[in-house]
Amino acid sequence: MKLQELGEFGLIDRIARQVHNSPAVVLGIGDDAAALLPTPGTLTLITSDMLLEGVHFDLSFCDPQSLGRKSLSVNLSDLAAMGARPRQFLLSIALPKTISLEVVDGFLTGIMEQAERFGVTLVGGDTCASLGGLAISITALGEQLPELVVKRSGAAVGDLVCLTGTVGDAAAGLNELRKGVRQGFLVTRQLDPQPRVAAGVALAEAGLVHAMIDVSDGVLGDLTHICELSGVGARLELSGLPLSDEYRDSCTADPYALALTGGEDYELLFCIAREKSLEVEALLKTLGLRFSIIGEITEGSAVQMVMPEGDVYQPEQRGFDHFG
Ligand code: ADP
Ligand code: MG
Repeated sequence: MKLQELGEFGLIDRIARQVHNSPAVVLGIGDDAAALLPTPGTLTLITSDMLLEGVHFDLSFCDPQSLGRKSLSVNLSDLAAMGARPRQFLLSIALPKTISLEVVDGFLTGIMEQAERFGVTLVGGDTCASLGGLAISITALGEQLPELVVKRSGAAVGDLVCLTGTVGDAAAGLNELRKGVRQGFLVTRQLDPQPRVAAGVALAEAGLVHAMIDVSDGVLGDLTHICELSGVGARLELSGLPLSDEYRDSCTADPYALALTGGEDYELLFCIAREKSLEVEALLKTLGLRFSIIGEITEGSAVQMVMPEGDVYQPEQRGFDHFG
């Protein structure tokens, strides 16, 4: 069955039926606007991310369910990077009218699965026909006490630069997909990243981080964003980059290039005072997450990368830029 047989309101109905009630949602899908009840004393953090067929995903590579999960995950990752607790989201979609309902249902199942896992409620959105491919735009809302929100601008000279998890996997996974590989650890890291919501919230609420960002564009690009907004530089020790065995096995020559500039890992990159590192390590361990120190914040504005032998590393590319 094709979407055009169901129609716009049939689709919105199908979506609305999958949404559970939440005490914070006074009015959900169905009216002209949703009405939400914020937790008293909190700020609302709001973020939006768009996924376009042919730009961000390829339906011949990914199953619709993973695409649904990833669409929400990339937004939750942005909230996590602020230390916000995710609450609600809006889903705007443009679909070709000939798309099969099976794909649409798989996509919705994936979104709802991830929404349930992270306790977020779908409260509205927009639905229209696309003359091109599938376009997905999600806006997610989160909450946090004002003093606990973590910005990009708080890094201080002498801070340690740290990471959760491993980097480079998602970019290596994309290379595998292009070669025809359809499963495995790297492919899963590309198609189905898990946002570090628990870690972001715990780090923020413990008051342990000065600055934080999620690694969507690559460690180098994202650390550069922190440095620019904090008015500092950084020195990265490439020997400290956390690389998975699968990633190492997939590298032919330079093992640092993709890990630094590949992006889409959705790990958290954050800056902490040196004396907090054991505390942070212990906290992330309770969440089952790897913790790595990859460098230090310095004076100046440059991000310098040092190879294990002490030579300065020069990457060919600095990170992802849609217009670059
Ligand atoms: P309007 O024309 O007033 O913008 P719509 O017909 O677009 O209203 O939407 C009707 C209701 O359905 C609204 O509450 C809207 O938020 C919700 N809605 C529309 N599309 C979606 C979607 N893709 N996901 C969730 N809710 C949606
Ligand atoms: Mg509308």
